[in-house]
Amino acid sequence: MRNERLEAWVSLVAAHTCPSRIHWCDGSDAELADLRERLQADGTLIRLNDDAFPGCFLHRSHPNDAVPIEQRRFVSTASEQDAGPTNHWLAEDEAYRHVWPWFSKAMIGRTLYVVPYLLVSPRSKYAQVGVQLTDSPLVVLLLAMLTRMGRVALQHLGRSGDFARGLHCLVTCDPEQRCLVRFPATQTCWSIGTAYPKDATLLESHVLSLVSSLAPEEGYLAEHMSVARVTNPEGTAHYVAAAFPSGCGKTLLATLTPSVPGWAVELVADGLCLLRVGKEGRLWALNPAAGSDRMVGESKRPVASASGVSRARDGLFTNVALRRDGSAWWENCGEPAGEGVLDWQALPWSPGSHRSAAHPNARFIAAGHHYPNASGFFDEAEGVPLSAILFGGRRPELVPLIFEATSWEHGVYVAATSRSEAAPGSARAAGLLRNDPMAMLPFCSYNMADYFSHWLRLGPQLYRPPRIFHVNWFRADARGRLLWPGFAENIRVLEWVFERVERRIDARRTPIGFVPHALDTRGLDLDADTLERLLQVDVRGWLQEAEANQSFLSIFEQRLPRALLREQQALVRRLLAATN
Ligand code: GDP
Ligand code: MN
Repeated sequence: MRNERLEAWVSLVAAHTCPSRIHWCDGSDAELADLRERLQADGTLIRLNDDAFPGCFLHRSHPNDAVPIEQRRFVSTASEQDAGPTNHWLAEDEAYRHVWPWFSKAMIGRTLYVVPYLLVSPRSKYAQVGVQLTDSPLVVLLLAMLTRMGRVALQHLGRSGDFARGLHCLVTCDPEQRCLVRFPATQTCWSIGTAYPKDATLLESHVLSLVSSLAPEEGYLAEHMSVARVTNPEGTAHYVAAAFPSGCGKTLLATLTPSVPGWAVELVADGLCLLRVGKEGRLWALNPAAGSDRMVGESKRPVASASGVSRARDGLFTNVALRRDGSAWWENCGEPAGEGVLDWQALPWSPGSHRSAAHPNARFIAAGHHYPNASGFFDEAEGVPLSAILFGGRRPELVPLIFEATSWEHGVYVAATSRSEAAPGSARAAGLLRNDPMAMLPFCSYNMADYFSHWLRLGPQLYRPPRIFHVNWFRADARGRLLWPGFAENIRVLEWVFERVERRIDARRTPIGFVPHALDTRGLDLDADTLERLLQVDVRGWLQEAEANQSFLSIFEQRLPRALLREQQALVRRLLAATN
């Protein structure tokens, strides 16, 4: 079946970029095998040791192209007001005058790949199509892992013109020309000058910037969240979503191996999720993607290792080190490096070296069905009902390990005013706090004040709303040592979330919300003092925090929903009352 609108758009782009051939991707095994072979031949991919990393490859990005550069992301809307104060706005005619010419003749001598892909299972009424045009064959392989790519998407699309349009061109890896422009009104996104897997595929932009801008009209939200199915020793399961800024532990939480016997955590969605009001008046979460993307560089828990029993197959490592036996290596992977290691830039490296062998933002991407802990609900057409949403970020000071919001509105306020330090390996300056509402700051492509309104409107429609929590795994002492062991031990925090969700436990009411009286720390090397510090609410510190929140919220001026102002004032009142 021909799709004239798709063909017209491909022709338009081809006339401008001048590729020497056009390849329509069908997603077949033969097509992908052929691409892998070609990428191996030109050195873009290195086949890893098959015993240790079955079916896996290594890709090394350009040294200046290893982390996303958020300053180079623009939103193009009719008026600056529509983009709101948190976005870099680019007028549409400016985008066409300045950025569009960069694509001119950019694909000379190259192949233009037309990559159709489907978000959400084809059985779901929320299934939708994106098409990315790219001159990077690696992007084709990535979209094949991260989405349902190829024929299935074209079949779903039929003759419809309702698809998101992504245009990506490698051109050079010059950071001066690197740029990402999102046009929510036309569901279009341009990316230029990056081969870094996470940015070169426009999947994240598609879901979190384009879909997210239309979704509220259709009655749902597109969110930067991982979702986990958590089961307790009695066999009760709850679905928990985590919305933390990039590099702050969404994937790790949804893939953790609990340290406490009897508990299980399975991955339902990794970093992308659609939320809607559904059956039983609950908030249902749906996974739009088909794969998972993990940071490995700093991870204590190897995603795949030579000795590990739980290893993912057929995946792509970016910017890890290479051992002499052809296996991948990175700091904290739990194995010694050995001799003859090449670092992420292919330079000789030894354990005494000052540089790290893997880039701190090194990643591992694979299809979900190759992950050992992907839940059966990964591919669900209806999604799963959420019992809890965890917001959070990196907060070495002040913010307790966990607290719970006292109402939906309070929860939206907590999420909207959440701040975080930069993750290691990101392009942001270390140690600076930044407001990152719902972890959507880099993505939300319309006025965030309106986004807050959508969140506020959800609450009254929910008969059994998920409880909203804020977590912080990153509290540190004066010397910078983390107070909480984190990772597998976070199950102890989820245990408290379970107790609260099932209304089995009382909590301490503080000015910022409910805080645990205690946590199950049996078997942990954590003294009572440390636990107390982790759960302490420093009223004076929170007054300063509230002041910072006030100035953040004020940037939205008259557009800010009144409910958030009321929450802000109520928080200050409660804090002041507690100082007396
Ligand atoms: P995502 O981008 O939000 O999915 O983040 P990831 O799950 O990939 O985690 C990014 C980094 O956060 C990891 O490499 C860890 O170093 C760190 N991290 C995640 N969970 C914890 C935790 O519980 N404690 C500590 N200290 N670090 C964590
Ligand atoms: Mn992640």
